[in-house]
Amino acid sequence: MSEIRIPEDHPRYESLLTRHRIEKGVDEGITSRQGLIAQGRGEAFDYLLGERTTDGADAAERAAAAALLLADHAVLSVNGNVAALVPGEIVELAEATGADIEVNLFNRTDERMAAIAAHLREHGAEEVKGLDADGRIPGLSHERAKVDADGIGDADVVLVPLEDGDRAEALSAMGKTEIVIDLNPLSRSARAAAIPIVDNIVRAVPNVTRHARELRDAPREELARIVDGFDRERALGEAEREIRDGARSDVSPTDR
Ligand code: ATP
Repeated sequence: MSEIRIPEDHPRYESLLTRHRIEKGVDEGITSRQGLIAQGRGEAFDYLLGERTTDGADAAERAAAAALLLADHAVLSVNGNVAALVPGEIVELAEATGADIEVNLFNRTDERMAAIAAHLREHGAEEVKGLDADGRIPGLSHERAKVDADGIGDADVVLVPLEDGDRAEALSAMGKTEIVIDLNPLSRSARAAAIPIVDNIVRAVPNVTRHARELRDAPREELARIVDGFDRERALGEAEREIRDGARSDVSPTDR
């Protein structure tokens, strides 16, 4: 995976591996340099959360799975960080929920769009949307507004992991049910989401897939009950408390 070997017994193995995937993404023209900064920001929150999926995040991931299964047209939006970190996992989630995959970049260049689409196809994606860019998100400047008319433009449910706050707000203003994965519960993206998932994308995406597989044969009423029973304000509040109060019980207060 990377030319740098990390010993598996290293206490920060997962975190270092994730970091190397992002670096490799930058080297391969998949991830932007701003993506490195976003990753660093995410790591800090993840560290404070104890680098684990909290009960609240797991409940959000189950609600996300139910919303994706209930959707008429669900789309998973992929940017450079998502493509570097979880390309195969996104393809599996699309298969488990019947969702489309669309590349959607904040810093859009034709080269990066093509590199990401090719990378996703190498990981098993059959159709990758986003290259037509024949639709627009109202309220955003030209480049940042581009989407596919028959992709995100037409979707009723969108999963936007690590989305920029402005676009998350604009998508939600279009009336779409928005699922955001973001380790910062205070970010505008998380706050704009109908279902904010405060978890690392490397844990969140496979866990949404697991829930979707479990719920695949559930009646629509049960799926609707799971979505309706999810309380976004409470989820965000709990995540913030976990971060502020220190979920890391392995670090004693005097060591902090
Ligand atoms: P906003 O505009 O939404 O208020 P921002 O300007 O902080 O947020 P960026 O820096 O563009 O947004 O986005 C990075 C966001 O993605 C951060 O909130 C960070 O916590 C989150 N993030 C980065 N890496 C991951 C990851 N691996 N899993 C989940 N979230 C992540």
